[in-house]
This record gives sequence, C-alpha cells and structure tokens, in this order.
Amino acid sequence: MPDRLLSLLGRLDAATGVSGDEAAVADVIADELSGHHDTHASDPLGNHFFTRTGNDGAPTVMLCAHMDELGFIVQHVEDEGFVRIAPVGYHDDRMVIDQDLRIHGRQGPVDGVTGAKPAHVLPPEEAKKAIPLEEMFIDVGTTSRAETEELGVRVGDLVTFARPAGVLNGTRVFTGKAVDDRSGCAVMIEVMRRLGSDIAATVCATAAVQEELGIRGAGPAALRVQPDVALAIDVTLCGDTPGVELSRLPIKLGAGPAIKYFDWAPAAGIGTAVPRRLTDRLERVAEAAGIPYQREVLLGGATDAYGIQLSGTGVLTGCISIPSRYIHSAVGCVHLDDVDKAADLIVAFIADISANGLPE
Ligand SMILES: [Zn+2]
Repeated sequence: MPDRLLSLLGRLDAATGVSGDEAAVADVIADELSGHHDTHASDPLGNHFFTRTGNDGAPTVMLCAHMDELGFIVQHVEDEGFVRIAPVGYHDDRMVIDQDLRIHGRQGPVDGVTGAKPAHVLPPEEAKKAIPLEEMFIDVGTTSRAETEELGVRVGDLVTFARPAGVLNGTRVFTGKAVDDRSGCAVMIEVMRRLGSDIAATVCATAAVQEELGIRGAGPAALRVQPDVALAIDVTLCGDTPGVELSRLPIKLGAGPAIKYFDWAPAAGIGTAVPRRLTDRLERVAEAAGIPYQREVLLGGATDAYGIQLSGTGVLTGCISIPSRYIHSAVGCVHLDDVDKAADLIVAFIADISANGLPE
C-alpha cells in the first residue's frame, strides 16, 4: 500500500493545476479511477464527477477534493526580460522568494528563479521586511522582452513552484509543491478503489476547481450532485513544529486523519460548523474500525465543505482533514499513514451509511 500511495501522490503532485486551469489534474484522476466508477462527467467550471451508482433509493454520498494548487499568473514582461507575476490564491510573500518557478508557456515549461537584492547592499530597515510579491520577478535568464517572448512566455501564462516531490529520507513524510490538495485527491481515489462491491450508496467522487480562489467550484458541484451527505477532503494545519503553539493548532503529523468539528476564516466570513450527528457518526465509525483520528477545530481557514454545505437548500456536510506542515508553501508535508487512514475512515463511513442509513 505505501508504494502505491507514494506513486499516486507523486503523480498527482507533479501535475500542473493552478486555480482556473485544472484539466491536467482531472486527466490524472480520470486515469487513476479508470474502472472504479460507472459514470464520469464534467461541468462548465471544470469540476469532474466520478460516480459509482448505488441501489435505487440508497443515499448519495458526495466526496470532494480540490484539484487546484496555489500558483501565479504572468502579468507583464519587462523590457529587460524579467517576468512579473500576480498571485493566484493566497500566498505568504516570505515563501515565494529564492524559489525555482516554472512558467507554463505555450511552447512548454520555462524555468526561472525569484531572486532578491543581495544582503550586502540591503538597507537595514528593508532587511527586516518580507519582500512583497508585487516587487518580485522571475529571472528566466534572458536579457530582453523579445527573448523572453521567444521562449513562449506571454501574459496570462500560469506559473507553479518547480519542485520535485518525494518522501524525506526513507520516512513516511511526503513533501511536494501541491500536497494541498493533491493528498486529498489521492485519498478520494483510494476510497473509490477500496469500496467493496456490497456498498448500496451512490458515491460521487468530485474533483473540484478553484478552491484556493475562495471556494468557487464546490458549491455549483454540490448543486449538481444533490447529495444526502457530503465530505470534503482537504489538508489542515499542524502545530507540531518548533515555535508553533500546539494549543492554537492542536493537530499532529502522523497521528491520524482529523475529523473536522469547526473551522472559520473570520476575515473572509467563511467556514463550516459540522453538525454533531455527523461528527458523532464519523467518530463511532473510526472507533469501531480501530482507525486513529484527531478532532479538528481550526481558526483561519475553510474548505470546500463551506461551499457544499450552503448549496441549494443546504447539505449535511463534514470534512476529513489530512494534517499538513508548511501549508501554502512549496514544501508542504503530509504523512503517508494519515493519507492511508483517511481513505480507510471514509470507506468505513460509506459502508456504515450504506448499512445503517444517514445520521439522524
Ligand atoms: Zn486545500
């Protein structure tokens, strides 16, 4: 299992899917899910739906993982050939400098670096501050706009971090440029592969778009699926690294998937309060199956659960989270055991819904 998970995560992480252009990720998911669904459809936004049709009258369970990753978009090419970029999604400026970036141009990938003024010449007050993204540029090695354009770079091209994924030193810790939320995509794929033939429920694995731009894809997707119960699958923050208060982020890498109780991003006014009848059922299922789990209360973030929960006349929606270190950076980390157990938990939940009906 670890090897299969590892190659699945690696393949998903390597795919390019900056918010708004997730088609390459959808292709990988479709390939990996081949033979594990009855129908495959997509909608005008680019959401993809892989449905396993259950018995007549059986409940519909929607799973949702977002395909998009944080990235950038080319905004301007300078006379000297440097490429100016705008953020696609919420970046921490400190994480973007001194990185390898890849511009996905019309002639293929164009690699560059984000450099900064050398420390030797930095005024002391500037040295204390993060370099704002508006001041950054990508150096692709050229000396003129014409030369950069000859490489196939033009305004509107999407840009990703250029960092190969893999496990750290033979451990179970996987690091990649897009573990948010390709690790959720991996869980969703594993769930569809692991579901037994005796499952009565209809299960719709939804690969959603544009989560990082403010949860834009999941709501319309849910309106199409009209599920009886839904689970978003996304990463959540860990508080188990030096300097972070565990009391503020009480989730640990490798300690099992997290069952979300509550999240809230006050600045955006979005979040999800998961109904207790759903968290109770998830916990009961985890305990019966001997699956380790953590309880998640998160301030400062939200997931596709927000969009699903408020779609149509409202949907019973929860979220299974994969603990992740260094979220919203090029070096996100997840634990293979958490990914594996998240899939087990969701499979057990669907089996329980099939056998015992919806949480009441
Ligand atoms: Zn995410």
